[in-house]
Amino acid sequence: MSSTSGKQIRNLPAVDKLLRAEELSDAIQELGREVVREAARDTLARLRREILRGNDNLQRELQTLQFQNELCLEIATLAESRSAQSLVPVFNLTGTVIHTNLGRAALPESAIDAVGRVSRQAINLEYDLTQGGRGDRDSHVEDLICELTGAEAATVVNNNAAAVVLVLTTLAVGRDVLISRGEMVEIGGSFRIPEVMGSAGCHLKEVGATNRTHLADYEGAIDDDTALLMKVHTSNYEIMGFANSVAESEIADVAHSHGLPFVVDLGSGTLINLTRFGLPREPTVEDSLLQGVDLVTFSGDKLLGGPQAGVVAGNKELIARLKRNPLKRALRVDKMTLAALSSVLQLYRNPSTLSRDLPILRDLARDIKEIAAVAEQILPCVKQYVADQAEVEVSSCKSQIGSGALPVDLIESIALKITPRSLTGADRQLKDLALKFRKLPVPVLGRLHDGSLYLDLRCLREPERFCQQLSD
Ligand SMILES: *Cc1c(COP(=O)(O)O)cnc(C)c1O
Repeated sequence: MSSTSGKQIRNLPAVDKLLRAEELSDAIQELGREVVREAARDTLARLRREILRGNDNLQRELQTLQFQNELCLEIATLAESRSAQSLVPVFNLTGTVIHTNLGRAALPESAIDAVGRVSRQAINLEYDLTQGGRGDRDSHVEDLICELTGAEAATVVNNNAAAVVLVLTTLAVGRDVLISRGEMVEIGGSFRIPEVMGSAGCHLKEVGATNRTHLADYEGAIDDDTALLMKVHTSNYEIMGFANSVAESEIADVAHSHGLPFVVDLGSGTLINLTRFGLPREPTVEDSLLQGVDLVTFSGDKLLGGPQAGVVAGNKELIARLKRNPLKRALRVDKMTLAALSSVLQLYRNPSTLSRDLPILRDLARDIKEIAAVAEQILPCVKQYVADQAEVEVSSCKSQIGSGALPVDLIESIALKITPRSLTGADRQLKDLALKFRKLPVPVLGRLHDGSLYLDLRCLREPERFCQQLSD
């Protein structure tokens, strides 16, 4: 160490002196003394390292009068960033309404209130208030699920992937599960039917061909090792052209004539006919059960519009076996999920107000004129925000439902199309532009397409707040 750097290090203020500085008093009050002390220690340690490395700029800074000011500011910023929440709200203008990376369905206010109520104090989660003894946590939603789907019984786990694993490990360990080759799907990169089968300890027996599977294919494949027949909703693609799949009712008949259960993984699944909201038709849970399916599994946070959860609904004896499986204990949901799910299911009892009260349906069924009005409203502030960098115009676009629901159907929507002005380095500029929007206090996420940044306005509910942060 040179004598100058040794002297500079000795001249750095002590942590305790910094903690007494006026400039840090707000941070200490807000974040606590320990958090600020930690930040001060780390900042000073970094400075010492830089001094030893002989950073010239730093040497000059150390001489200045504002040095302590700047040091305090740096410490406060570090302490604040360490105390900041990692999960923050964003504006989802990607055009994908149910976006897995953005937390899927936004919950209705009634569900948010319910989560608050059950989190604040003790509740009767697994306590039967009439009998005065232990109860079943599924009881808070089971009757509602049965009422809305026509199922005899139901159980709830962490997500639909868990629901499928629970069904397979309960009913098919070490045995064969028959599935059509056309349904060997991968959903979102981490849920691949063949791999799920393997991890659940059962054998996948593929039936038919990728594009065509017939009833005789299922019949011919059944033998003594068969545990169940399964159908998977091909959530994110559709086989077009020369294709055939077998109706659920027919597979159910074949399964039952051999005394085997028939299970359908509906993926998104919905409880109501969506065509009444002008949306494409998606199979409902009730439809499947009416076709004779024994167990249906579906997600809580896709089209249903609730919290992350997986529901299994159907035959009473089979559901009872799922509930007895020790794995159910590992996959069970918590009280907040049950509270939110129960509130969302309550809304389905009155379908006429659903498109007003359930955010997912409100967004999916939103009138295009309303979206166009939002576009006109925010056009000036977005223009101003990117004034010297890009052109902004209102453009029609297509939203997708996302998370595998209604895979090939897109919904008409309106976007702001933001295109960098200069053609040189346009790609870099476009990325910078997208970053500029992502760095806002409430990050704005759009979609890059064909040299432009598209902000699909279908899910923009607070245009004033949106513009406010652009002009701040
Ligand atoms: C989405 C989906 C899953 C996985 O559901 P999660 O709730 O995300 O676990 C499983 N199967 C199908 C057919 C799906 O669409």
